Amino acid sequence: MNPVYVVEVDGAADPVLPEACVVCGTAVGEPLRTLQLSDEYGRVEFYFYRIVDRPAQGRLLPVQIHDRCARALRNRFLKRLLPAAALAGAVGAAGIWLGLDDFWNMAAVLVAAGLMLYRALSMPVPMEFWHHGNRFVLVFTDRDFARRVARLNGAQAMPCARVDEGVPVRLEPTGRTAGKR
Ligand SMILES: [Zn+2]
Repeated sequence: MNPVYVVEVDGAADPVLPEACVVCGTAVGEPLRTLQLSDEYGRVEFYFYRIVDRPAQGRLLPVQIHDRCARALRNRFLKRLLPAAALAGAVGAAGIWLGLDDFWNMAAVLVAAGLMLYRALSMPVPMEFWHHGNRFVLVFTDRDFARRVARLNGAQAMPCARVDEGVPVRLEPTGRTAGKR
């Protein structure tokens, strides 16, 4: 698992983000568009970009993206979903062929689909954030982008193992996660 870079800033005002696409980190090429990223569930907005209308609830942060970059990311996610559907179908067919009881066949299909779905949903997205207490916890996969955000907001970009429910989990000083980078 690659580390993420966490920038914590005061939550009174929106944090300042670079005038650049959050996916590729540049402002070149096609004009930038604004994606309203929601608190906690931003991942879903990247995954289903322009397929599902975002739920307009909770704290939103406008982030800049290239349409093309966001679509490419979304398509990568959708490609990861395909095996989930295929595997569920195959397990279901095998169950019928083996003469499995309906209940057990359904259970096997759900387990297979669940595992593949879990794998798809673990695909990293360039930015997520949590807003709680009076702080923003901004999470980035790209170290340079995180550093730019940190500089713009007078904060630090902290490498972390992951963020659990808005709480950054520090990298172990010695350990597999820390040793990877
Ligand atoms: Zn881009």
